[in-house]
Amino acid sequence: MTGYRKVHEEVRAHSDSAVLVAVSKMHPYEAVLDAYADGARIFGENRVQEAESKFPPMGERPEGMKLYIIGQLQRNKVKRALQIADRIESVDSLQLIEKIEKEATVMGRQIEVLLELNSSEEEQKAGFRSADELIEAGKYILSSCPHIILKGLMTVGPLGYDEEKNAKAFSFAHTVFGKLNSLSPDCDVLSMGMSADWQQALAAGSTEVRIGTAIFGARN
Ligand SMILES: *Cc1c(COP(=O)(O)O)cnc(C)c1O
Repeated sequence: MTGYRKVHEEVRAHSDSAVLVAVSKMHPYEAVLDAYADGARIFGENRVQEAESKFPPMGERPEGMKLYIIGQLQRNKVKRALQIADRIESVDSLQLIEKIEKEATVMGRQIEVLLELNSSEEEQKAGFRSADELIEAGKYILSSCPHIILKGLMTVGPLGYDEEKNAKAFSFAHTVFGKLNSLSPDCDVLSMGMSADWQQALAAGSTEVRIGTAIFGARN
């Protein structure tokens, strides 16, 4: 059994509805196609440059294949991200939001986004530093960014697996997600959980897990 099928079954055993994003960073397009043949439809990539060299252009991809950008996005790469991505899950500043709205307007498209929360107070981690900042950013999108479709919240658990630290971070993220969801019922995605901690994330209310290693094997 291939990695995708196995992980998909495991995720289904924990949740009827959780979305599984197959994180294909640092794995070749052949691996993407193998997973696609097994039913995978949503793929996650960290870097715009890698994603655009790996995937066919939008409109030329296999039926139903979607690409989400999940890694930190620099403002100068927003335009390229909008040319390849179905969603940006790692939006972490007002400046980035302004830039996305501006470029999406020029391109005449709408883009789905998640706001990333730094739920573990780790300095090196991306994401909004506080619940208030993230909620303000959500309000700004809903009131002033017609080209951005706010879908929800994303977070990365604490570095290194630690059940207690994870529980704290996931519970915090779930609380902030509830506030975001109360601004708009369309904000219904809570993306948290990776290979090492997805079971715990689902138990804490995650609606979407992003899994790489457990599907595709270790990255070099
Ligand atoms: C790499 C990555 C993942 C997947 O991590 P694994 O541990 O390989 O499952 C998920 N989310 C983000 C933001 C990542 O960068």
